[in-house]
Amino acid sequence: MTQATIERIETRLVDLPTIRPHKLSVATMHGQTLMLVKIYCSDGIVGFGEGTTIAGMAYGPESPEAMKLAIDAYFALAMLGRDATQVQALMAHVGKLVKVNHFAKCALETALLDAHGKRLGVPLGELLGGRRRERLPVAWTLASGDTAKDIAEAETMLEVRRHKIFKLKIGAKELKTDIRHVAEIKKAVGERAAVRVDVNMAWSETQAAWAIPALAEAGCELVEQPVASAAALARLMRRFPVALMADEILQGPESAFEIAKHAGADVFAIKIEQSGGLFAAQRVAAIADAAGIELYGGTMLEGAVSTIASAHLFASFANLQWGTELFGPLLITEEILTTPLDYSDFELTVPNGPGLGIELDEEKIRRFTRDGLIKVTK
Ligand SMILES: [Mg+2]
Repeated sequence: MTQATIERIETRLVDLPTIRPHKLSVATMHGQTLMLVKIYCSDGIVGFGEGTTIAGMAYGPESPEAMKLAIDAYFALAMLGRDATQVQALMAHVGKLVKVNHFAKCALETALLDAHGKRLGVPLGELLGGRRRERLPVAWTLASGDTAKDIAEAETMLEVRRHKIFKLKIGAKELKTDIRHVAEIKKAVGERAAVRVDVNMAWSETQAAWAIPALAEAGCELVEQPVASAAALARLMRRFPVALMADEILQGPESAFEIAKHAGADVFAIKIEQSGGLFAAQRVAAIADAAGIELYGGTMLEGAVSTIASAHLFASFANLQWGTELFGPLLITEEILTTPLDYSDFELTVPNGPGLGIELDEEKIRRFTRDGLIKVTK
């Protein structure tokens, strides 16, 4: 094995605007911040990784700013001078020195795998066991907050053959308003598209028990994280036949095992960052498969780097019954790659080049890189 050590780790925050406000039960997003990490190795190879959250800190405990700080002040010291080619051993070493910080660890692991794939001349997915599919179905999230606008957006997506699975973000409004919203969209798209909802934990168990049958009646095929509690989700599983998906409560292999043990979900939304990296996400998938839980490739609305890292992993899964939602780069106004990703015929093509198989437009990234201290403005 080529000896290559880590010489330098560089982080930056890149603030990019979104194509429209993105409304979730927890927040409304007007932009997306990518924490990009570059790992420079002694053999001249540079690997890229990304850490991105949904709506700053509204979704979880990590933020892009905190990830940058954690890497600059802690992770980098633990990694400099170490062998870059032994990715799992290095991440295990780092894991002993820094607890949790799943998103930051994922960004670093992605960069190491990107570098090692480039070093060996193979796509990143080969380091995860090899791909089983070249293309991945991609759902689109309708989250303008307005039913008519969402229907028009869905019609456009169907017309240009980009998406035929729609996820609706609900939970911020009255239950009846939300259900009417879902029913109207499903009625408009009919059999041409699938409709699913994501409640982002907004409901109580009794609200969910009232809403789930109404959603099923409206033609919704999957309900994602209706409640915050794993125990409540497991109880809802026993009451309703409609598929229920775990997302926020899935925080890596240990939580996956706990949920699986209690038959607490029909489907897992696997996310590489939330799982703590690509190898951890792979273990989550193995637990789901063993428990008969179906799989869905989730997103933290990441930019191209983490989206493609996820794509390499999801392409390697034995089962991917519910497709993916790897549309993050399409929510951002700016193209940060020299060659855009191929979203066509309702699917995303997994790149074939070494490592991630993408090339970042450095000039574009420089232009959107946050300068200096965080400014608080209104
Ligand atoms: Mg979700």
